[in-house]
Amino acid sequence: MKSFAKCAADWRWQLRHRIRSVPELVARFPALGRHAAGIAAASAKFPLAITPYYAGLIGRAVEADPIFRLAVPQAVELAERNFQSLDPMGEGRHAPVPGLIRRYRDRALILVSSTCATYCRHCDRKRVAGRREGALTAAQLRRAVAWIAQHREIRDVILSGGVPLTLGDAALERMLAALRAIPHVEIIRIHTRTPATLPQRITPGLVRRLRRFQPLWINTQFNHPRELQRRPRWPGWRTPVFRSATRRCCCAE
Ligand code: SF4
Repeated sequence: MKSFAKCAADWRWQLRHRIRSVPELVARFPALGRHAAGIAAASAKFPLAITPYYAGLIGRAVEADPIFRLAVPQAVELAERNFQSLDPMGEGRHAPVPGLIRRYRDRALILVSSTCATYCRHCDRKRVAGRREGALTAAQLRRAVAWIAQHREIRDVILSGGVPLTLGDAALERMLAALRAIPHVEIIRIHTRTPATLPQRITPGLVRRLRRFQPLWINTQFNHPRELQRRPRWPGWRTPVFRSATRRCCCAE
């Protein structure tokens, strides 16, 4: 039988064991019991998922805790004001083919996955992230790549979602190879918050594969210093996961 540390170091284990429901959340943070109804109402509209790793960064299950606020659904998300929009960047108006957004002349963004390791409460793509977890189909991806190939002015392509790094290595490699085969695509970027919410995903194998497609940029986002801490508060956790992940990223040049 694998030790807890070995299981927890595996990104797929982290994804399989995400907190996905209010009862699971209350089991992890019993003090939340009295707020369960409010959390359930918010998570019915905007999904809940928290990796065990990221849940371990929560200090106290109260709104004042920054990691708690970043990850746990809150009633304030349900407030509807007339200046709000589920598509605040107006991406839906700039989608020439399904899954591809073009808001700038030389840049295209592909929504390759609707899955995230942890759903952030501040997400500006809530209309996509976690609504129905999945990935672009092979046919949709072919269509998006063909569109980029036909538009010679596109020199910068962003893989986004959801989070592209929730896909397996082979799927990512296929996408990157298809884009790298287009001569006018100079820049490829991957948008991902996994270094903060699922640093286990930055495996040596992934880094080896990504290195083949240089120049490649990883755009990430950290929202609080605690997301940089070495060890989450989780019984039995011994591995300085985040430090090894960033070191691997930095050594991939
Ligand atoms: S990881 Fe990105 S796409 Fe996913 S919920 Fe967070 S901000 Fe939104």
